[in-house]
Amino acid sequence: MTTKSDILIIGGGPVGLSCAYYLLKSGRKVTILEAKEIGKGSGHGNAGQIVPSHIIPLAAPGVVSSALKWMLDPALSPFGMKVRLSPAYLLWLVQFAAACNDANVQRSLPAMRNLAQLSVTNLQKMLDEEGIECRYQQTGIITLFKDEKAFEGGKHEAEFLGKNGVPTEILDKAALHAREPIALDDVIGGVHFTGDSFMNPAIFLGELAKRVRAMGAEVHENTPVTGLESAGGKISKVRTASGEFEAEHVVLAAGAWSPIVARDLRLKLPVQPARGYSVTVAAPRKMPRHAFILGDRRVAVSPLGELLRFTGRLEVGEYSTTPNPDWLARLEKFVREYIELDEKLDVKETWAGLRPVTPDGIPAIGRSPHHSNLTVATGHAMVGLTLGPGTGQVVTELVNGRKTAFDLSPFGLERF
Ligand SMILES: Cc1cc2nc3c(=O)[nH]c(=O)nc-3n(C[C@H](O)[C@H](O)[C@H](O)COP(=O)(O)OP(=O)(O)OC[C@H]3O[C@@H](n4cnc5c(N)ncnc54)[C@H](O)[C@@H]3O)c2cc1C
Repeated sequence: MTTKSDILIIGGGPVGLSCAYYLLKSGRKVTILEAKEIGKGSGHGNAGQIVPSHIIPLAAPGVVSSALKWMLDPALSPFGMKVRLSPAYLLWLVQFAAACNDANVQRSLPAMRNLAQLSVTNLQKMLDEEGIECRYQQTGIITLFKDEKAFEGGKHEAEFLGKNGVPTEILDKAALHAREPIALDDVIGGVHFTGDSFMNPAIFLGELAKRVRAMGAEVHENTPVTGLESAGGKISKVRTASGEFEAEHVVLAAGAWSPIVARDLRLKLPVQPARGYSVTVAAPRKMPRHAFILGDRRVAVSPLGELLRFTGRLEVGEYSTTPNPDWLARLEKFVREYIELDEKLDVKETWAGLRPVTPDGIPAIGRSPHHSNLTVATGHAMVGLTLGPGTGQVVTELVNGRKTAFDLSPFGLERF
């Protein structure tokens, strides 16, 4: 059986759902095909941090040397790498290493800033207009430091970001402890990103999915796309186990799985998974006032109303979403190094998810160079929850043939 649709979105994560929301608002009819349950993919258990401050791409100077140094101490390293002898993966590693330079940062920064600012504006409008209550808090995110050298690095980065329009405040020890009394005494300072915010991502995605359904989207869960066919420069068929779909336009938003979905197409889409973990506990007696990033450990701490979540680790090339229990235990141990916590925590959920990462560390958003009815939106790496609402708007503009809110060429697929 073949089902015909107007817009077919593959993937119901933060990016696919945001695309659905803005396409529906623009008057298009939307069908979503989701392999599992909508909103339960890599967005569900993430840190929930809305970080317009994260405009430096993942591929930046010093990343490779830091990764190599960390890997000498695998039990403590925030970074890991799967050994896989796949040519696409090996090429991705080489391209990523080559992109870790200042030119990549300079090229990416304006586009990342535009997308981040649009996303934050859109998110706030969406929460207000749709009445979404998702424990959204705007007290900002503080990077905490225990090590003088790391704090110096944090200050340097804050100064750079400040010059690029990101509001930051350097906190010395006294200022930090006055602002966040839960920090332990040997935390020596912090950088407060006052424009950042945080939310419970699972509640947000669940509520957004409800709105999208109420606006008329047809949602097919447990319907993995098994292949795409093309003819005459267009996507002619989208295959699933429960039938075929034809669409005026297809939006590929399947996160780290996007290259697998597109494997039958002549399309260069070098996206690799980077697995991370989270542990969510019932709110301890004392809760932080802000969300944190533990600067020396690269672990995120997010107060989510009645819950507190610890998130961390970046394992490149790993597709499995089964959490590693050793790492889950380490996340809690690292958090105990920085903030006061009850002796015994009530663990509510443990989770692993995949960040979709391109070799230059910025998203891939654009029309396919070879298929007139295919738009790709993936590669949002560590910031897909943040960048979803802006991506939804610009994808809608692209699909509808309108002028985009800003120049999208740095995100275009032609660069691969
Ligand atoms: C540990 C961790 C912490 C993070 N913290 C943050 C944070 O604080 N802030 C932030 O902004 N971002 C954060 N992220 C990143 C963010 O979660 C991702 O960037 C985001 O989930 C990407 O969204 P997406 O919609 O592109 O992909 P996904 O969320 O992965 O969604 C893709 C969807 O496609 C579906 N799919 C896959 N294959 C198919 C198929 N064949 N057919 C149909 N559907 C398919 C999947 O089931 C999934 O639901 C974090 C990620 C991790 C892992």
